[in-house]
Amino acid sequence: MKKVLIVCMLLTAFALAFASCDESALENIVPNHTHQFGEWKTVLAPTCTETGREERACECGEKESQQIAALGHTEVIDAAKEATCAEDGLTEGKHCGVCNEVIMPQETLKAKEHVFVDHFCECGATDGTVSAGLLYELTEDGQGYAVSIGTCTDTEIVIPQMYKGLPITAVKAKAFMQNQTITSVVIPEGVTVIEGRAFYQCEALESVTIPDSVTTIEVMAFKRCYSLVSVTLPDSLTEISDSVFCDCVKITSLTLPEGIKRLGSSAFANCSRLESINIPDSITVIEPRLFEGCSSLKSIIIPDGVTLIMDSAFCDCLSLESITIPSGITSIGVGMFEGCSSITSFIVPEGITLIDLNAFLGCGNLKELVIPSSVTEIRDGAFGSCPYLTDITFKGTKEQWIAAIGDYNWYYHTVSVIHCIDGDITIE
Ligand SMILES: [Zn+2]
Ligand SMILES: [Zn+2]
Ligand SMILES: [Zn+2]
Repeated sequence: MKKVLIVCMLLTAFALAFASCDESALENIVPNHTHQFGEWKTVLAPTCTETGREERACECGEKESQQIAALGHTEVIDAAKEATCAEDGLTEGKHCGVCNEVIMPQETLKAKEHVFVDHFCECGATDGTVSAGLLYELTEDGQGYAVSIGTCTDTEIVIPQMYKGLPITAVKAKAFMQNQTITSVVIPEGVTVIEGRAFYQCEALESVTIPDSVTTIEVMAFKRCYSLVSVTLPDSLTEISDSVFCDCVKITSLTLPEGIKRLGSSAFANCSRLESINIPDSITVIEPRLFEGCSSLKSIIIPDGVTLIMDSAFCDCLSLESITIPSGITSIGVGMFEGCSSITSFIVPEGITLIDLNAFLGCGNLKELVIPSSVTEIRDGAFGSCPYLTDITFKGTKEQWIAAIGDYNWYYHTVSVIHCIDGDITIE
């Protein structure tokens, strides 16, 4: 009976132990067990707004768990941005740096109006009355800007007078060179120089406005502007350099300002439709090939101040009929009237001492030629290839003529008689 009771007590203890602890084999062996929990372990991480959960466990398998509080947002300030004329602005805002939730939204501040001073806003925008996108580079002296095309795509270029508080003083060398779309250019007052090749071969360029501040147009500035019709040259101009308007085949008329000091070589060469041009009194030298190929030019007056006409100045002026040469000139230069096929009669002015190489070469219609006694030298080819020149009138003696002509016998082909004051020289 006693044994039975002990067994019952053990069973009861077992049952109690079983009820209070998990059915691990170990528990069965250690019935009176106090849980020994381990470290808390996160089983669900909390977020900014959601709670999490953590658990810990005893060796016996018993677990307990508890909530982890939500973390709350981590505020990050979104800085305010002032509105400019180029861009909208924003008010200050906040967002969470962890979950990116917007806590305080930013509001858009509308862009400001441009403020234009001398056609430009601080942001670089232009007011629409001058070309946008032009490039401005400080000149060497830092006193102004040289302009060039930059990113401008206008076909009608309007250059402003001022940029960032300084005047535009130059159209830079090659500024618009070989641009095939621009049709007109307005250069502002304040520009003093149009540099070399600035508009070279701008084939669509029809019209150029040059202000009364430009003093110099440099080499080839408008060469090969095949469409250029309208150019007004200002009184301020003192120099048109070499080949400036060379090959401008549509220009019909040019008025050069009084006071201009220099017309460079070939400056108007091949202006094949140029019918009318004046040479101001301020010019002293007609440079080489100045009017070469001006095949529509009928007459020209060289003013009294000119003392030198250089090589080929009027070469291939196919329509030239009349030219006035001042008394200060002492020679008919090399090739001066070469190919001038409209000259039928030419009276070499008194005072000329030299008729140089090829001076009248190829004057295909020259019939009448009068040479003054002042001429003491006539060089090779002076009257070569002049098929209608059969006789020449010389206002000196036969002896003077023979001295002037030297041993050169060019005239044997077509010229048969030289009428001298003391009789004729007849060529067999
Ligand atoms: Zn336990
Ligand atoms: Zn958050
Ligand atoms: Zn602006």
